[in-house]
Amino acid sequence: MEACPDDPGSREGRLVIPSMAKEISLYVHLPFCRKKCPYCSFFVLPYSKESEDLLLEALILHLDQISPQLTGRNLVSVYFGGGTPSVVSSDFLQSLVKKIRALPVAFDPAIEWTLEANPEDVSKEFAALLFSLGIHRVSLGVQSFVDKELVFLGRSANKGHALMAIENLLDANITNISIDLIFELMDQTKGDLIETLKVVKDLPITHLSLYNLMIEEGSKFYRSKEVLEKKRPPDASCLEMLDTAVATLESYGFDRYEISAFCKQNQRSRHNIGYWTAREFVGIGPSAWSFFGQKRFQCTKNLNKYFTALAYNKDPIEYEEELDTALLQKEQAGLLLRLKEGIPKTPLLAPSIKQAIDKLIHKGWIQQGENSYVLTEAGKKFYDLVQMELL
Ligand code: SF4
Repeated sequence: MEACPDDPGSREGRLVIPSMAKEISLYVHLPFCRKKCPYCSFFVLPYSKESEDLLLEALILHLDQISPQLTGRNLVSVYFGGGTPSVVSSDFLQSLVKKIRALPVAFDPAIEWTLEANPEDVSKEFAALLFSLGIHRVSLGVQSFVDKELVFLGRSANKGHALMAIENLLDANITNISIDLIFELMDQTKGDLIETLKVVKDLPITHLSLYNLMIEEGSKFYRSKEVLEKKRPPDASCLEMLDTAVATLESYGFDRYEISAFCKQNQRSRHNIGYWTAREFVGIGPSAWSFFGQKRFQCTKNLNKYFTALAYNKDPIEYEEELDTALLQKEQAGLLLRLKEGIPKTPLLAPSIKQAIDKLIHKGWIQQGENSYVLTEAGKKFYDLVQMELL
């Protein structure tokens, strides 16, 4: 579910900030969901206590297995994603956090611990548990504050659940709260989007991620893709909705620090910044991706196989790719462009990247700042095409 960045090794033409070289992140994939949302194409499993026990045992084995690679590294973020990490039991979370805290890493003083949660799971007790475990950032899968849209998306929570979850988090002293919103829904009007944005105005949140609905292979919606796509608002309306969302969020004091991410008081997602700036990360859990040692790899998407591989002390990996330096640099340039700081101007910039940037400047999709190349407003809208040009 995450984009995968470059390697911070020292080599000519690299764009990585040297002081980040020893930083590392940990991603933990908790694949359980109570039901599968029709737009979701992620690897998810129905929750059961037996599966949870098996997963915990496997994750503990995996943490033991990767321990030597992590030794001495500066752990700057831990992210529990899914799936729905908020469906697991308190015993599970306590055991897992305890194991992670025992890793032979240097825990960065400003380490960020994030857990993704569905609003209906965030009771006062659950929020208090997270706080007691040191998980002080929560990313809520809100998606919309319009109940008819939540029904269309197959979500279990309604607007009331989301507001209650935020209140419960604040009561537990968790103030670093992010929400996800989705737009470009079938039959969505600008008025519907404005209804959601109006609710955001007074929310005590620090971060917001805004995505457009994609109908991906593997999702239930994909089976009716043709019919559904006909109900999507026309391209011009979608672009207008995006402009409205960005302008409204900025008027509320949000900083669009990345194409899809907005924050207040500079509370950027430290974990996600790693994906855009080539920080190495290790992913554990079925289907989790890693980027480590100039390789990108993915764990098996089968809980039993994942457990069995680890029980026999084998890599639970089903896909592995050794990354060519030239390709890494291009990918990294594309990822840096997502950030508002863009690509630093440096004589070490590979000539092929510089050529692509010049072409994109000519098209009006990139502009030159004093020390960097950044996307123009048009470039942000057509980022996929910008990325293709860079590759
Ligand atoms: S969208 Fe989230 S909650 Fe829904 S099935 Fe996918 S991972 Fe689970």
